Amino acid sequence: MFSSGMLFVLAGPSGAGKTTLAHYLVDNHKGADFSVSTTTRASRGEEIHGEDYFFVDDEEFSRRIENSYFLEWAHVHGNRYGTESSWVRNQMACGNSVILDIDVQGAVQIKEVMPSAVLIFVLPASSDVLRDRLEQRKTDSGKTVEKRMLAASGEVSFMGVFDYFICNDVLEKAKQQVESIFLAEKMKLLNIGWPVQALDYHSGYMNGLSFWEGKRVVVSSGPTREMIDQVRFVSNRSSGLMGVSLAKAFLAAGAEVILVSGPAFNMEPPGPVRLVKVESASDMLSALQEETVDADLLVMAAAVADYSPSTTVSGKLKRGDGNVLLTLEPTPDVTASLDCSCPVLSFALEFGENAIERARLKMKRKGAFAIFLNMGDKPEAGMETACNTGTLLFASSEKSIEIPFGSKKFVAFGIAAALGREIESEKNG
Ligand code: ADP
Ligand code: 5GP
Repeated sequence: MFSSGMLFVLAGPSGAGKTTLAHYLVDNHKGADFSVSTTTRASRGEEIHGEDYFFVDDEEFSRRIENSYFLEWAHVHGNRYGTESSWVRNQMACGNSVILDIDVQGAVQIKEVMPSAVLIFVLPASSDVLRDRLEQRKTDSGKTVEKRMLAASGEVSFMGVFDYFICNDVLEKAKQQVESIFLAEKMKLLNIGWPVQALDYHSGYMNGLSFWEGKRVVVSSGPTREMIDQVRFVSNRSSGLMGVSLAKAFLAAGAEVILVSGPAFNMEPPGPVRLVKVESASDMLSALQEETVDADLLVMAAAVADYSPSTTVSGKLKRGDGNVLLTLEPTPDVTASLDCSCPVLSFALEFGENAIERARLKMKRKGAFAIFLNMGDKPEAGMETACNTGTLLFASSEKSIEIPFGSKKFVAFGIAAALGREIESEKNG
């Protein structure tokens, strides 16, 4: 219940040693699985369908692209290769780590759709060594080796997108390095839920989390951008951390989570979370309208801009144009405009006295099930901070639950658990 699997991508030129290192990880770590790719390349004879690759023809590959079958796919050395999306996501949802051995174009695509994936670039000590290894492998003709050597220089130019570099010179050393990365990433608190060993210290705090097992939760997060011209925008100080932390908490509780996020510094949900990127308030409204069909909960952690410029200038405003008069119009109230039947958790940032009364009014106006109240005059909690604290209020009762001060991740688990308890107890009358 408390951990989701991770995605490791080994990429680099053909012959660098990716397959050797990927198999080393899978053979030595329980819970690490190798993703078998689909390709239009012909089998090299000794290769087994379903074990080395799924070999399909061009027509079938195209059909799978159209059906969104692939998490990523690319043209490599004249053939097409792709990674099956549902297999990867299912493995990760079961807590397994998935190892991909793919080319750099695929790795770059993975970073876009799953920012939490760990990208490892593998390269031998020199290009001469790479050529020797390709020749000694004896799986490719001389012409193919030349093609792969030419491609290698292009592949190296993508190295900057990667998280780690391994020089596969002495194989034993490279194995040790890939294993160190694998183990360290799996221990990162960022990548795991709330460690069970830490539950003892706040007994009862996490009760209610299990309510979310198998439920579908949509979390909105980050700020929105309302464009003045094609470069400047009206936005707010939301970092997106609270939304991502909530996505992690519901995921760790066993829910299917969709994160609809505006452009934020923190937009790195764990792999099994589906990330939907939006920009403006009206984009956010349309995406949420689509994603909340059949949802069990909508968490409105996004700080949606209240105002938007009445027109967007195409191109870029120039200083030489003189004064600019900016007319702002109210954006749609996303929560109130949504036609969704699931309970909504809203958020309020209030300053000064009577904050609870004002938060309750806001909850009513938005038709929300609950609201999390942040006090804006506590500089250490709220926007652009690592920590948070607040009060959870419910529409159906006078009850309020204080969520104690802690990291946003800790607070997110507390909110998810308290909501689970409340919905469960309402259901039971
Ligand atoms: P890739 O999957 O990147 O194409 P492979 O894992 O197939 O690369 O490795 C290419 C060849 O080089 C294989 O024959 C493999 O056994 C060999 N090889 C891999 N790493 C080393 C190393 N550190 N030293 C010597 N040979 C290696
Ligand atoms: P080979 O034909 O030698 O097995 O593989 C050629 C290249 O295709 C290698 O660099 C390999 O990593 C890459 N490749 C294998 N499977 C995939 C995949 O699913 N997606 C992408 N993008 N590349 C792949």
